[in-house]
Amino acid sequence: MSDIETIVVDGLELANELRDEMKREIEALTKAGHRPPQLSVVLVGDDPASRSYIKGKQRACARIGAESAEYLLPESTTERELLDLVDKLNRDDAVDGILVQLPLPKAISPEVIAEAVDPAKDADALNPLNFGRLLLGTAKLVSCTPLGVMAILARHKIEIAGAHAVVIGRSNIVGKPVSILLQQQNATVTMCHSRTRDLDAVCRSADILVAAAGSPRMVKGDWIKSGAAVMDVGVSEVDGKLVGDVDFEAARGVAGLITPSRRGIGPMTITMLLRNTLNAYVSRKRL
Ligand code: NAD
Repeated sequence: MSDIETIVVDGLELANELRDEMKREIEALTKAGHRPPQLSVVLVGDDPASRSYIKGKQRACARIGAESAEYLLPESTTERELLDLVDKLNRDDAVDGILVQLPLPKAISPEVIAEAVDPAKDADALNPLNFGRLLLGTAKLVSCTPLGVMAILARHKIEIAGAHAVVIGRSNIVGKPVSILLQQQNATVTMCHSRTRDLDAVCRSADILVAAAGSPRMVKGDWIKSGAAVMDVGVSEVDGKLVGDVDFEAARGVAGLITPSRRGIGPMTITMLLRNTLNAYVSRKRL
């Protein structure tokens, strides 16, 4: 018997509201005689999942009235060739946001590419300068999925100050930045990873639990504190079905709030990519 009515977050609904807001902002800018913002997406290789992600990103741009361009490069592309394209996009004043889709082929270092993207156009916020600014609390561009998590917590008025937030996963794209954002909003943050001892007990003490390990259904119902806000970032495919890091059915009735695998964090990530592009545009043009 469950004793809690768990709120299941509708990430798509929130994403659509935020996209409508951005659409109005862009309409106002174009009415005032400015061009719309532009996001350039670069894909190296033929990964079908990446292809589908970038299509989604283009559709999302079109929906808010932003421009987008895609650069599809063959798997055989060298690091030098990709750096040349990044350099060209950096210097093109009509480009406001640059996103190089990960994963990259083995011959190309994602760190080298992240360093090459102009920090002012760094829509995915992977350039070390933006990462450093995030640590200092002065970042204008922050990694999209962590921003999406924070927007969901804000929308649902989850109290962050003083809360114990547990983050599973310490990647540069999710775990580390989300832990910094939570700490900046005065949570007490515990970061967990594959070597953490007694992970279940640590999770049980979380008021806010962010699961970003990519390990399907690893968080069991009895790992969750009653009423906790559970942000399930993980996405894995099991038997042709998308599943999160949290055992969703077991968490229902225990968590106060939970994001589902579909219509959860995913739409918010794309929305924050659009937000970063628009912010980059406004800041570059000093509007
Ligand atoms: P990653 O593989 O770079 O990092 C995973 C982290 O989890 C590592 O720090 C690792 O130590 C930790 N980890 C792995 N297994 C663990 C375990 N059993 N116990 C404790 N810690 C464990 O992954 P990532 O890029 O951060 O992505 C994490 C997950 O989030 C993936 O499933 C990815 O697909 C998903 N993701 C979703 C979105 C979205 O928009 N929904 C965006 C980014 C990532």
